[in-house]
Amino acid sequence: MSDASLSTLAARLAGKQISSRELAQTYLDRITALNPSINAFITVDAEKTLLEAAAADALIAAGSAGPLTGVPIAHKDIFCTDGWLTTCGSKMLGNFVAPYDAHVIQRFKAAGMPSLGKTNMDEFAMGSSNETSYFGAVKNPWNAAYVPGGSSGGAAACVAARMAPAATGTDTGGSIRQPAALCGITGLKPTYGLVSRYGMIAFASSLDQAGPMAPSAEDCALLLNVMTGFDPSDSTSLDREKEDYTRDLNKPLAGLRVGLPKEFFAEGLNNEVAAAVEAAVNDLKKLGAIPVEISLANSRLAIPVYYVLAPAEASSNLSRFDGVRYGYRAPAYGSLDDMYCKTRAQGFGAEVKRRIMIGAYVLSHGYYDAYYLQAQKIRRLIADDFSEAFKSCDVILGPTTPGTAFKLGEKSDDPVEMYLNDLYTIPANLAGLPGMSLPCGFDGKGLPIGLQLVGNYFSEAKMLNVAHQYQRATDWHSRQPEGLK
Ligand code: GLN
Repeated sequence: MSDASLSTLAARLAGKQISSRELAQTYLDRITALNPSINAFITVDAEKTLLEAAAADALIAAGSAGPLTGVPIAHKDIFCTDGWLTTCGSKMLGNFVAPYDAHVIQRFKAAGMPSLGKTNMDEFAMGSSNETSYFGAVKNPWNAAYVPGGSSGGAAACVAARMAPAATGTDTGGSIRQPAALCGITGLKPTYGLVSRYGMIAFASSLDQAGPMAPSAEDCALLLNVMTGFDPSDSTSLDREKEDYTRDLNKPLAGLRVGLPKEFFAEGLNNEVAAAVEAAVNDLKKLGAIPVEISLANSRLAIPVYYVLAPAEASSNLSRFDGVRYGYRAPAYGSLDDMYCKTRAQGFGAEVKRRIMIGAYVLSHGYYDAYYLQAQKIRRLIADDFSEAFKSCDVILGPTTPGTAFKLGEKSDDPVEMYLNDLYTIPANLAGLPGMSLPCGFDGKGLPIGLQLVGNYFSEAKMLNVAHQYQRATDWHSRQPEGLK
C-alpha cells in the first residue's frame, strides 16, 4: 500500500478492492507506529478521519465519486479546519479550534478526500528546518538526526515516511519546495493567485501560496486539479478557466528548452547537489530537451529583499494575535496594554518575534523609503529577469537548495545561515511564478537531493509534464527510507 500512487489508490477504491475506511485505517496505523519518532503530525483524530472516510465510501457506493474520492490526505496546520485544532505551529494558537474551513480544505472535502490530520510546521511558517515549531522539531525520515526542512516539514516527512499518500503545504519563500527536496518527495508551488488563501493563516500575503506535496509529479497534478479555482473570498484569487493539470503529462520533451541560470550553479552550491542536478540535465537531454544558459542576475538580492518584505507583511498580519479575539491570552496581567504585551511575549517564539521586529522597523517612518520601497523596486527587477529569461527557454532548471538536509540544531542559532537555504526558491515567490521540486539523487550520507523547476506564469501543466517524463525515466521519486518501508 505504501508505494501506491494516488491514481492506483483511487482505482482500487473505485474497483471496491478496498474501502476508504480501510485505507484510512492503514495510514492511521502507520501514523501510530511512526509518528512518535518523526513528529510529523500535531493533531490526529482517528474518529473524525474515519467518519469522513465513511462518507467517501457512501459517495463511491452511490456512484457519485470524483477522481480521488476516498483517498486520504494530510493537511498542514496552517489551514483552518472546521472543528479541528489549528495551531500554525504556535503556542499563540495552541488552543484554537477553527470554526470554519479554509478554501483549500473545502475543496478537498468536496472531492471526498478524508483528512488524516494536521501536520507539524515552523511557527507561523517562519523557518527552514521545522525547529521553530512550538510542538517540537520534525525528524527527517531518511535520518532522524537531520531536519526535514521547513516550514512544511511535517507534510514532507509524513509523505516521505508514507504516513499519508499526499499532503498540502504552503510556500512563501520555499516552504513546499525546500522540505520536498530535503525529504525526497515532489512538491509544487503554483502561480500566485491560482489557489485561494482564504482560511490559510497569513504570513506574507503577497507571497503565500498553497500547493500539493506527494511522491510524484503525477500525484501533484491530480491534487492541483482539486486545489485550484477562483474564490471570491480571496481578493487575489484569479478568475480563470479551470485547467486539467494532467493533460500534458505524457507529452514528449523533444525540443523543450531548459534554462540553466548560471547564478544558481555558482559558489555556495554543494558539489554533490551540483553533480546530481547536472546528471538530471543529461537525463532530460536524452529525452530531447535542449539546455540553454540564462542569467537571473538580480536573484542574488532575493534573500535581502525577501527578509525586508516578508517580515513587513508578517508584522502587519500577526498584529491580529492580541489575546482578545482568539488563541492564547496571558493568564495574569494588569492593564489592557499589559495584556497585549504579555500575551504576545508569551505566545510567540523567538523567530516570530524577530520577524515582527524587523517588519515594524522597515515599515517605520524614516526607514520605509530606504528599505521597504527599495525592496519593492528590486522585487520588480527580479521578476523582469525571469520575463527576459523566458524569451529563450520554456522552463528553468536548477538545484532546489544549496545543500542537503542539515543536522538538527546545526543552524538554529544562526538565522542568516538558515535563511541562505532558500537562496534558489525565494526568487519564484517574489516574481509570483510557479516552482516545483522533485527528487534527483542522494548525497554520500544517503540524504535526498532536490531538482527545482520554475515555469512561466500558469505553466504548471508544462512543469508537471517535464517532471513526469523525468520520473518515468528515473526512479529517485519512488525510493523510500530503509527501515520505514
Ligand atoms: N524559510 C523561509 C522563511 O523562513 C520560507 C518560509 C515559507 O516559505 N513559509 O521565511
